[in-house]
Amino acid sequence: MNAEIVAIGTELLLGQIVNTNAQYISQRLPEVGVNVYFHSVVGDNPERLKRCLSIAMERSDVIITTGGLGPTNDDITKETIARLLGKELVLHEDILEEIKVFFKRHNREMTQNNIKQAYLPEGSIVIRNRNGTAPGCIAESNGKVFILLPGPPSEMRPMFEESVLPYFMEKSGHLLVSRYIRIFGIGESQVENRIIDIIESQTNPTIAPYAKEGEVMLRVTARCGRGEEPGKLLDSVVDKIRERLGDAVYSIENEELEEVVANLLIYNNITISIAESCTGGLISKKLTDMAGISKVFEGSVISYSNDLKINMLGVNKDTLERYGAVSSQTAIEMANGIRDI
Ligand code: ATP
Repeated sequence: MNAEIVAIGTELLLGQIVNTNAQYISQRLPEVGVNVYFHSVVGDNPERLKRCLSIAMERSDVIITTGGLGPTNDDITKETIARLLGKELVLHEDILEEIKVFFKRHNREMTQNNIKQAYLPEGSIVIRNRNGTAPGCIAESNGKVFILLPGPPSEMRPMFEESVLPYFMEKSGHLLVSRYIRIFGIGESQVENRIIDIIESQTNPTIAPYAKEGEVMLRVTARCGRGEEPGKLLDSVVDKIRERLGDAVYSIENEELEEVVANLLIYNNITISIAESCTGGLISKKLTDMAGISKVFEGSVISYSNDLKINMLGVNKDTLERYGAVSSQTAIEMANGIRDI
């Protein structure tokens, strides 16, 4: 099965927002055996939207749209697709009820045009939206599948995960399951060198390295049929890789470095203070974004100038002159300084 992702919204064409929905969906679809062949972006214009969807329908089996499901007049996705497929839009009383409850729960007044959101193309499978008011849907017609999802990523992603992935899993009868090994401190080529024999001898699971900013990630992906358990296949390969890479592996749960660090600090009740220079507070920001960090995070000094390094953190003037500000020697003295404070 091949798919096309159609992102709908004039904001995208104007460059006001980035099409992260297409990126996300493209990353996830291969997990369930669907290949993405095209991405399209189109504004909120009925004629152009219709043209774009007609082209998509000619060349793709699956067309996933995001955006344009809202209550206002420029939200025209459902109307356009219904017309294209020759379907009526029908009212779903249960969805209307859910929308009313949503507004009540959020203490917001429901306006008349919100009723529009409870209308979906006849015969389609409803995709519930727990985080917003616009439900999505799956409409099948003449061997083509249209999947309509709302624009906000916080609504679209859970819907995709809870409804769209299982829909394709059921259809294709197979599933790709991935584990992510996160690595810090060694580069991509070194990682590859150390495990090249494992990479080359594997067909299921497969191993793919990715260089991310400042770190390397390995994706280990197992393909399994209906009812099969991919856990064991994945575990043995992940264990082998961990053995080879040792301490450079900081997570096999696809967590961010700051999450792992924060959890270790909190779990072991170890307090931390940070002396930063060129990072301008970035490390402190990353840590303070983590839930529960106030238990262990004391504070930080952003000592950008040499003067502050000397006067506040007690870095030796000689060290700075001899080794420079960007040196392990200065870093050690900064760390000692903030620890003393
Ligand atoms: P709503 O119920 O909020 O009206 P909608 O389905 O009508 O949802 P849009 O109005 O098209 O969605 O977009 C709402 C917001 O969702 C945009 O302002 C933008 O922040 C985000 N968004 C829309 N499309 C994308 C996209 N392709 N990638 C990332 N974010 C998007």
